Amino acid sequence: MENFVVGIDIGGTKLATVVADVSGRIISKVREPTHANKGPEYVLQLLVDMVYQTIKQAELELKDISAIGVSCGGPLDTKTGIVYSPPNLPGWVAFPLKEKLEFEFRIPVKIENDANACALAEYRFGGGRGYKSVLYMTMSTGIGGGIVLNGQVYHGVNDSAGEVGHQILLPDGPLCGCGKRGCLESLCSGPAIARRAKEAIQAAVSQSVILNLADGEVDAVKSEHVLLAAKKGDTLALELIDETAYYMGWGIANLVNILNPDIVLLGTIAIAAGDLLLEPIRKTVSSFAMTRPAEAVTIMPAQLGESLGDLAAVSLVV
Ligand SMILES: [Zn+2]
Repeated sequence: MENFVVGIDIGGTKLATVVADVSGRIISKVREPTHANKGPEYVLQLLVDMVYQTIKQAELELKDISAIGVSCGGPLDTKTGIVYSPPNLPGWVAFPLKEKLEFEFRIPVKIENDANACALAEYRFGGGRGYKSVLYMTMSTGIGGGIVLNGQVYHGVNDSAGEVGHQILLPDGPLCGCGKRGCLESLCSGPAIARRAKEAIQAAVSQSVILNLADGEVDAVKSEHVLLAAKKGDTLALELIDETAYYMGWGIANLVNILNPDIVLLGTIAIAAGDLLLEPIRKTVSSFAMTRPAEAVTIMPAQLGESLGDLAAVSLVV
């Protein structure tokens, strides 16, 4: 019949395999911890077992599956399917994942980096439905992104496009995970928001609910506490959110000028914060971006939530 596909989501801490029909409806799902420290061959064998188990759970057979989509942390080569040492997968040194999976299952395998796959999933099944050009940006431990232009993921010359979080806004700014200074990620990721909150609390600029929410421990302050405090109307938290929105808006305005997208979809922190963060982001974008692209763009939270990881892998092969 071949009316079904398998999606594989490889994260640093968890693995998920799903079977979906060609409309993207998830039929069965298996989850396991990644055991990343055991190396790629161990994880591969685990994935193979999980795929067979997921197909069985869906009451199907391998012959019913037309293709396998894999969403995995990059860097990786989408053509050869080789994965090059993602930071969260130690030991994956030029690991030929696509070749190994195709050898095992004898069906076509498509591999994509997770941020691009998420962008494609939002384009196909989420907030990007009905639009042609979609920019997706995560806001969590890092700021990643994926660009879908006229319905196609934009990869660049060697699959490195979409690093929206590493545009430099403040050349003398905070140190970023990439080794440079003042990247958008070093200002607006979850850890960056927490860092700015800790600095402000330690400087004792004002009393803040943030510290109470972190049980009085400055070191325990997280971006979630800032968000919660802002929702309670805490002055410092609201300032931190506004500052975050200012930098995010600045970064998005740059991208809007360059790409002229229909829609920008923001994940994780933006979903949790809602209009508290999105409204000032929209204002900054409309004041920083050129008039025509600013007028054309819609800025919204991403829509797929919990199912994003599963649909990311599936969206590659439906
Ligand atoms: Zn950076």
